[in-house]
Amino acid sequence: MPVMPAASLSLTTDIKYLKGVGPARAQLFASRGIRTVGDLLYYTPFRYEDRQRITPVRALIPGQTATVLVKILSGGLMRTRTGAYIYDLSAVDASAPAHEPPDKHWAPGMIRLKWFNAVYLEKNKVFRPGQRVFFYGKVDYDRFGSGNLQMVQPQFEILPDGETPNGHSLEVGRVVPIYESVGKMSARVIRRLIWTGLELLDGQIDDPLPPSVRHRNRLLDRSAALRQAHFPQPDVSLEDLANFRTPAQVRLIFEEFFNVTAGLALKRRQATRAHGIAFRVTEEIRRSVKRMLPFHPTAAQKRVIREIVTDMQASRPMARLLQGDVGSGKTIVALQAALVAIGNGYQVAFMAPTEILATQHYLYAKQLFKPLTCRLDLLTSARSSSEKAELKRRLAAGEIDLIFGTHALIESDVAFAQLGLVVVDEQHRFGVMQRYELIRKGQPPDVLIMTATPIPRTLALTLYADLDVSVIDEAPPGRRPIITRIIPEAERAQALEFVRGRVRRGEGAYIVYPLVEEAETLDLRPAVRMYEHLSRNVFPEFRLGLLHGRLRSQEKEAVMESFKRGEVQVLVSTSVVEVGVDVPHATVMLIEHAERFGLAQLHQLRGRVGRGQAQSYCLLVAGDNRTEAAEERLRALAETTDGFRLAETDLKIRGPGEFFGTRQAGMASLRIGNLVRDQDILEWARREAHEFLQRPESDPELQAFVSRLQREWPHRYGLAQVG
Ligand code: ADP
Ligand code: MG
Repeated sequence: MPVMPAASLSLTTDIKYLKGVGPARAQLFASRGIRTVGDLLYYTPFRYEDRQRITPVRALIPGQTATVLVKILSGGLMRTRTGAYIYDLSAVDASAPAHEPPDKHWAPGMIRLKWFNAVYLEKNKVFRPGQRVFFYGKVDYDRFGSGNLQMVQPQFEILPDGETPNGHSLEVGRVVPIYESVGKMSARVIRRLIWTGLELLDGQIDDPLPPSVRHRNRLLDRSAALRQAHFPQPDVSLEDLANFRTPAQVRLIFEEFFNVTAGLALKRRQATRAHGIAFRVTEEIRRSVKRMLPFHPTAAQKRVIREIVTDMQASRPMARLLQGDVGSGKTIVALQAALVAIGNGYQVAFMAPTEILATQHYLYAKQLFKPLTCRLDLLTSARSSSEKAELKRRLAAGEIDLIFGTHALIESDVAFAQLGLVVVDEQHRFGVMQRYELIRKGQPPDVLIMTATPIPRTLALTLYADLDVSVIDEAPPGRRPIITRIIPEAERAQALEFVRGRVRRGEGAYIVYPLVEEAETLDLRPAVRMYEHLSRNVFPEFRLGLLHGRLRSQEKEAVMESFKRGEVQVLVSTSVVEVGVDVPHATVMLIEHAERFGLAQLHQLRGRVGRGQAQSYCLLVAGDNRTEAAEERLRALAETTDGFRLAETDLKIRGPGEFFGTRQAGMASLRIGNLVRDQDILEWARREAHEFLQRPESDPELQAFVSRLQREWPHRYGLAQVG
């Protein structure tokens, strides 16, 4: 592999040209999204080890975590009485004489190093006598052996022959960055590569932050910040370092949030300039809305529909997020907006994350729109190809006003005569990317995105910053908070009795299982098997239905419909009922193996009940040996029905990546910023970015920044083009 001469190396150089990388490592790096030298330099350490102070072995205190520099005497793989393997080394301070001490088991300055089951250390001949090695770990007494000091499973760095620990060593005598390993590449290898990159690019790293912003906020320049974030200076505060609050780290986090928030603001600015449809609200539309509404909207529903309609009347395309907890009544609001578009002669596409939910929405709308003359239809995979072709023809000819479906609706071969409004019931299953694909099609339609998972503030400021937000913060009248209980396995029978009691009163119950098929090693009670068991042995007097993802969509629809009509009294299901299903007379949600579900998922499942006037219950049957995180989730759920609080908790337990599902988040590429830890820096950077963007368009700093961001945005943030 040719190695680039330093002069032509830059942050955008393909990483395979960096000295020491090559194609194999480049491929490993690519799996982590590291493709350029710049990407590598932004692969920041997740923690640091203070190896500035090397403690003489004699000065070690048990319980202390310390660094020693020692010379290997001897050692190897041993077997304990129980048959386990231990790799056991003895070593002495590197300053001690090199010959074996008279007593092989104990000598001043001697320490034992142990690893359990570390056959690989023997096999790979990692250690040799005479080597000088740097160990870092917790010190304790070897209580069973010699009474020596020992470190169990220490971190180590072997000093290359002849190298003395000095200021230039990357491993010794400094605060050392620890990276998450990438494939087989250890932290040590990555450290060397980053060092190489920094050395080769020294003085050639320019700064993306506008100089005036940097100076005003007293931020370190990028080159120094990168260097110090990887290789901190000796006088660094270890506490700040651990909290990601050294000037170098703060500067990089600021940079990241500045770029993200500025990019989203630019995108939004562009959207507000685009020319969309200015809908008009006529008397006739008002009348049809009144005829359609089966109940009085809540004050919150009235407020958000006003916000939405105001947007629709404006000529800029609407991009609005409609946020409201499960059961808060978002759908009816979206249907009112649909009537406005249809009344103006436009078509509406209503998309849901699953076919079950699309079908539900369709049936709900069909019911409500009965007094009106709208032409509604549903596009699902269940329809035959000739039906689909006919449906597409009618859509293109403008013979359908309101079409329901999944994301298949935005596939390229579906054409609309006059698409005016797109409603996306997101439930976090649509990605940011898809959103923009949609908006870019033809004359921009208005877009309304509904979400049941409340967006924590940090995410609202980033991921959703290019959307206006409407919030329904009030439940429809007469709703009672759902009673949630954690039920130990041992009390399952009582829980099932409780279900029997409710169903006898004419109410419906869901029983949800985590998986469809039997998992051999796990004690799961899969839906199919349990459906049979429950029908035969537990609830022989009731009619049960079974719903899972493997059913064909007509079968799913049929089961859902019977449950809705009350013909099926107990619906046994996998988590496919999670989203949107609306059966007001269902009052019990019993979740088996609740410890296996995520918090957001549990909240969604619980939202399937409590949709009518009757008191509803959520019973979380959970195994006894659950993890701490599972316990935390269940307790959070039992304590509150407030979706916003649950979302914040979830974000804290899982971190932002998983909260949204990585790729989908579009924020997977946040490299150093952390939406939980760095909320303060996010808000600061966002303020600065917005102020900076106020400058006149002729401002040279602004121009330079914007053109750079446009160039880097797609690679850096994986989102669609800005500005
Ligand atoms: P979401 O989509 O927000 O989860 P839905 O739109 O499915 O909630 O509404 C949940 C249930 O509440 C539906 O049965 C709906 O008809 C009913 N509903 C919505 N708004 C009201 C209201 N203002 N008064 C009474 N019932 C309502
Ligand atoms: Mg809904």
